[in-house]
Amino acid sequence: MDNSSCSASYKLVENNELGRHWVADRDIPAGVVIFREKALIQGPLLREEDYKNSIIICFGCNRKLNKKITKRCSKCWYPVCGVECEKLECHAEYECPIFSKKSPWLSIDLCVAEYESICILRGFLYNSKQPSRQKRCNELMILQSEQTLPISTVDLSFGQYRCNLGRKQFGLMDKIGSSSEWMKIFKIIKLNAFSTYGEHTDYSSQYIFFKGSFFAHSCLANCEYSISPETSEFQIFTSVHITKGTPLTVNYISGQKRFGFMATMERNQLIRARGFICSCARCQDPEECGSNFSTLRCTNCKEATLVPVKEEEQLVWKCRNDGCSVFMDWFDVDKMMINVEEMCHLKETTKEKMECIEQASKTLMHRNFSTIVTLKFQLWEELRDKEPWQICGQDWNYYVRLTEELMDAYDYICPGLSEMRVNLLKVYCESVLERELEDMLDDTVFCTLENRTVIINLMDKLDKYWTEILQYQSLSIDLPVHLKQNCVDTISNKISHIAGYRIAIESVE
Ligand SMILES: [Zn+2]
Ligand SMILES: [Zn+2]
Ligand SMILES: [Zn+2]
Ligand SMILES: [Zn+2]
Repeated sequence: MDNSSCSASYKLVENNELGRHWVADRDIPAGVVIFREKALIQGPLLREEDYKNSIIICFGCNRKLNKKITKRCSKCWYPVCGVECEKLECHAEYECPIFSKKSPWLSIDLCVAEYESICILRGFLYNSKQPSRQKRCNELMILQSEQTLPISTVDLSFGQYRCNLGRKQFGLMDKIGSSSEWMKIFKIIKLNAFSTYGEHTDYSSQYIFFKGSFFAHSCLANCEYSISPETSEFQIFTSVHITKGTPLTVNYISGQKRFGFMATMERNQLIRARGFICSCARCQDPEECGSNFSTLRCTNCKEATLVPVKEEEQLVWKCRNDGCSVFMDWFDVDKMMINVEEMCHLKETTKEKMECIEQASKTLMHRNFSTIVTLKFQLWEELRDKEPWQICGQDWNYYVRLTEELMDAYDYICPGLSEMRVNLLKVYCESVLERELEDMLDDTVFCTLENRTVIINLMDKLDKYWTEILQYQSLSIDLPVHLKQNCVDTISNKISHIAGYRIAIESVE
């Protein structure tokens, strides 16, 4: 663990609201790596939706594999990518010897609970093989047993069922650990695990980090993290400027749904599954700190909006205008969301889809309502996945506009440097370079004064955005695949190429 350079920047404190958590011990600027840490426990993670799609995960490197071409470990017959992965320490030294000599006819189609059990089992086995890990695991268990755990009894009995299922399937009953010992590790994982999962990575793993376990959650977090699937290393950096005494927070759930475009009710569901109720500034403000991901338009008053208010355990949308009696309950809102989604999906062209989204955001929902932002994001992805020459002029303009609008929306829920922002910035730089600047630059000498101003403004924007991309690259150890692919070379070459034109343009003036 290397935190010598920043050991004085945070300290552990405790209060009723957040439990034990880190706070900044001095002002920390944005973009500073606070610490790195190796995983205490790591293992493969299978999600329900992946199970339904017959996905299998390598026991060695945690890569997602296709069932049809998956190889088996020559000793235990469980799924691996190949010989290299079967030899990896995390598998060969731990569960493999225990599972060895199984029948080769054994199914490799494992269920979610079985994958969960691998992580727990490794927790036990690390204990006996690595005393320093054992010490830290025990510390976490003791800390956790002191807390009154906010996990519901339903979740606990479901957890118990899954632990037992895993133990039984792997033939571990009465062999390694008791039922209550398994549950202790299950709870540590349930409450503290970080995972790598998402479209930018082929890996699906979960990790327990010792220091990482003391980061509080916020839906408006001030730190971002990245995990290297190859080395199980965790790196955390400040995404915004943090003042002394502020809790250091990360967003636990942002990776659970694509880029975290979630309204309060949806976030709260996921957070409850992690065993607590979020009381961050965004969850307490009906307008979600300006993000308005849950805000609807009032059909009665022109300018006023409907915001969710908690009434008993139910969310009800009420008009902000005191004299207005318009309100909607959860079912109405859900129905409206589904209608808008269906309407948009039925449209064929980008133009029609854009019109549909705009219509809904002018009449029914705030322009940042989660459904609207999600639809914009889906449309943006459709366009992103096409070749640039396949997108006609008007659609190209929509593409650039969507990128800008999504960046605006994202700034509300994740200010500062983040993976999503950098993805959008990269697209923005490429689009502007390919479709706008290059055309204009062909006529440098002849272009009008007005065009020259446009070009210079675009260049300034690109310079600024490019600096951000490079900064993110230096902070993240798990760079999204599509950013890695020659991004630096292609864009930086182009940017330095057009920088030459800038001098030419300015000299024309
Ligand atoms: Zn592998
Ligand atoms: Zn094996
Ligand atoms: Zn929150
Ligand atoms: Zn109203």
